[in-house]
Amino acid sequence: MKTPRIRPAARHEETGMPTVPEIRIRRRGDLRPDGRFVLYWMTAARRTRSNFGLQRALELAESMDRPLVVLEALRSGYRWASDRLHAFVLQGMRDNAEDFADSGVLYRPYVEPEHGAGKGLLAALAADACAVVTDDFPCFFLPRMLRAAGPAIPGRLELVDSNGLLPLRAADKSFPSAYAFRRFLHKNLQPHLHQPPRVDPLSRAAIPSAEALDPAIDARWPAPSAELLAAAPDALAALPIDHRVAPAPIDGGPHAAERALGTFISERLARYGERNQPQVEASSGLSPYLHFGHVSSHQVLDVLARREDWSVDALPDSGNGARAGWWQMSAESESFLDQLVTWRELGFVMCSQREDYDRYESLPEWARDTLESHANDPREHVYELEALEQADTHDELWNAAQNQLVAEGRMHNYLRMLWGKKILEWSPGPREALDVMIELNNKYALDGRDPNSYSGIFWCLGRYDRAWGPERPIFGKVRYMSSQNTARKLRVRDYVQRWNDAGLFASR
Ligand SMILES: Cc1cc2nc3c(=O)[nH]c(=O)nc-3n(C[C@H](O)[C@H](O)[C@H](O)COP(=O)(O)OP(=O)(O)OC[C@H]3O[C@@H](n4cnc5c(N)ncnc54)[C@H](O)[C@@H]3O)c2cc1C
Repeated sequence: MKTPRIRPAARHEETGMPTVPEIRIRRRGDLRPDGRFVLYWMTAARRTRSNFGLQRALELAESMDRPLVVLEALRSGYRWASDRLHAFVLQGMRDNAEDFADSGVLYRPYVEPEHGAGKGLLAALAADACAVVTDDFPCFFLPRMLRAAGPAIPGRLELVDSNGLLPLRAADKSFPSAYAFRRFLHKNLQPHLHQPPRVDPLSRAAIPSAEALDPAIDARWPAPSAELLAAAPDALAALPIDHRVAPAPIDGGPHAAERALGTFISERLARYGERNQPQVEASSGLSPYLHFGHVSSHQVLDVLARREDWSVDALPDSGNGARAGWWQMSAESESFLDQLVTWRELGFVMCSQREDYDRYESLPEWARDTLESHANDPREHVYELEALEQADTHDELWNAAQNQLVAEGRMHNYLRMLWGKKILEWSPGPREALDVMIELNNKYALDGRDPNSYSGIFWCLGRYDRAWGPERPIFGKVRYMSSQNTARKLRVRDYVQRWNDAGLFASR
């Protein structure tokens, strides 16, 4: 288990009536009564609604009778930064600016115009703060960034976990399978569902209104222009990020996320059982919004609860790990929740428990053994990263899936599994396959760089799965998938045609 850098909070001694569960907070240092405001550094839960971090920051501001300043920053120097990822985050900043307007909270977006330009901004704001609250996200560069920023924050720093329905620290180990985690959830999730975040924490805030920031801060770290917040092409073009990965055809931001959620529940959820068919739009499409924190799983559960006329009191406080039945909802809602909660949070727990979540060595022993023993098997096709990136393989279905990923920043879920399995089959060895999957997924997928990215990619290599027979070349005992079988099972003709004709790197 990772050593926590910040001790878990013991009590909400300052506020009397805490509203954010203690298990979701880690804190360090003392409050600074001379500070001018409380600072919420929004890094992962990029929304105003159902956000424990914002709620906690407001709670502290209220108890200290200070205004709240919210900093939402976007760096340019992180791996895979591109027009696609920036546009999505910027659209969220535009929504947040609107949602914080007239709230009395000072919302301060910042977008780095060049690498490293944002250095010092957090420290400058933290110097005037009574306390800094930030999001506790267990993956990608965020934990590293937080460790690096820690020394620049004097006094109180609180990390708040808004990641899922189960607080990360409710589990003290990672789980070998979805089944094992589901059993754990059935025994342990219910009490946490009685402590949801406030839907609209801003509406309850009784804090002084924030005044403008020190002009020296605005001069050195200017707020983004309206063009940049609108993700206008010229404004994106001026940033030092990868311009070859174009914005995706879907809008980012909490407003678009709420619309997507509403449409999914009213128009597609009833067909969720057909989601494996590539030509059927039956899944939620929420993963990019969940990834950037534009929507939370609590918000999703609220909407489902209304559809189902469901209340948390309906839940049993134990269960046997069965995929259906525990939630006491319709079959389609149960099936959706199994993805949203069991599968999604399985990966969050993994990343919070194991620093090696993105390394080959984190695979279960049986998978490493069998992959290593087949690492030198002859391969009929071996493709380098470039050919795969350009969808230049002999396999039409695979090319179509890769083209969709490049063009739209998403890939159909079932094909995503096949996509990864083929990369294993066509790479010189399993470690090379892992590197290629991480590179392509995280570069192109809007929802990449997420605990689920590593769940999906490592699943292709055996994580959360069991050994399968018969033992095959290259795969050994790792589950095998073939394009021919997939094409037989699914109706893929239209999909292949569409993406190989229209994809960015149309198949040759
Ligand atoms: C090789 C590979 C790579 C993947 N990379 C990512 C990634 O980068 N980011 C990502 O969010 N998911 C990833 N997945 C998991 C899954 O494909 C996507 O979560 C899902 O397709 C997203 O579409 P949706 O939001 O319409 O899903 P829905 O079916 O509507 O599911 C709702 C939510 O449940 C979660 N979920 C669904 N399926 C899975 C799953 N198999 N594992 C974990 N969580 C799941 C997601 O948060 C999703 O948004 C990957 C899977 C594979 C096989």
